[in-house]
Amino acid sequence: MENIYDLVIIGGGPCGLASVVEAKVAGIKSVLLLEKGTNHSQTIRTFYKDNKRVDKEYKGLESQTKGRVKFETGTKEDVLNYFDSLLDSENIDAFFNTEVEKVIKNGDIFEIYTSNKIYKSKFAIIAIGRMGKPNKPSYKIPPSLNGIVNFNLDKCGNNERILVVGGGNSAVEYAISLSRTNTVTLSYRKMEFTRLNDINLKDIKYEEKYGNLILRLGTDVESLENEEGKILAKFKDGREFIYDRVIYAIGGSTPVEFLKNSNVEIDDKGVPIVDEYCQTKIKGLYIGGDLITRSGGSIVFALNHSNTIINHIVNK
Ligand SMILES: Cc1cc2nc3c(=O)[nH]c(=O)nc-3n(C[C@H](O)[C@H](O)[C@H](O)COP(=O)(O)OP(=O)(O)OC[C@H]3O[C@@H](n4cnc5c(N)ncnc54)[C@H](O)[C@@H]3O)c2cc1C
Repeated sequence: MENIYDLVIIGGGPCGLASVVEAKVAGIKSVLLLEKGTNHSQTIRTFYKDNKRVDKEYKGLESQTKGRVKFETGTKEDVLNYFDSLLDSENIDAFFNTEVEKVIKNGDIFEIYTSNKIYKSKFAIIAIGRMGKPNKPSYKIPPSLNGIVNFNLDKCGNNERILVVGGGNSAVEYAISLSRTNTVTLSYRKMEFTRLNDINLKDIKYEEKYGNLILRLGTDVESLENEEGKILAKFKDGREFIYDRVIYAIGGSTPVEFLKNSNVEIDDKGVPIVDEYCQTKIKGLYIGGDLITRSGGSIVFALNHSNTIINHIVNK
């Protein structure tokens, strides 16, 4: 007989994982998690630096968890270990290396398309975040610089001259952490930081005051060029500097194609339209986590979406 799941969850980040737990605790029997990475929590694994402090209260967003999955400020490793234990505690099917291409409602059943199989389900949650596609600058990055123009810290070494571009918590944390063993400049286009939490704001001021890094506020890079294997960054104020590496930490963007192919309506800012239960206009199809936030979300936010969604499904 054809297997029809009660619920398929697409994306194994905080929202997807919490949805699994909430669903099982609420008594939803057959739940399938599909994650494109080799393991859960790809955003945390790829973009958080090792030992990063993971704040419960992030960007001034709500910091109280509503559901069954709790979360406290800790390190990246604490968070991953906790999520490991959540996944192991529930008897669910979880398939990794499984990228979903689209979700189509056919009658009362959702068809979830991957490259080699179509899964079927009564309800579906899209929790794929935004960091699958990190934002890139509007100017062209010369292909010859690809190895040294990065969007996370994976390739960073020591004793390099590094330019970090961005003004959010991620950019500031990257800059401070890299400055321990490198010469770091942080460039932010605004004159002031407006989106930092109190700790990061205090830390960046301290690091600048003691000359541990160079802060260039109100500056915007205009172009990058290859100069003898190094990066020549030309700024709009006419100044030019050579770097060994440039790291952009300027957020991620909505996977518009995925949503369009799934017939999910998005607003003029590219944010999916959902109701207060995170349900799209397609009944039974929900979206949670970063994807439905306007200026980036948080872990607690994602966890709370999962609670809202599962309560709504159960009440149906
Ligand atoms: C550098 C950095 C630092 C941060 N620090 C903090 C912090 O201190 N505290 C805090 O609360 N928040 C922090 N955040 C934000 C937090 O990480 C996000 O809000 C949270 O991860 C969002 O969870 P999510 O489940 O919506 O999406 P994600 O965590 O992005 O998870 C989405 C998952 O879906 C998978 N996926 C994507 N596309 C597909 C597909 N087509 N098919 C199958 N799977 C797919 C991805 O591989 C990924 O595992 C930080 C973010 C960054 C980038």
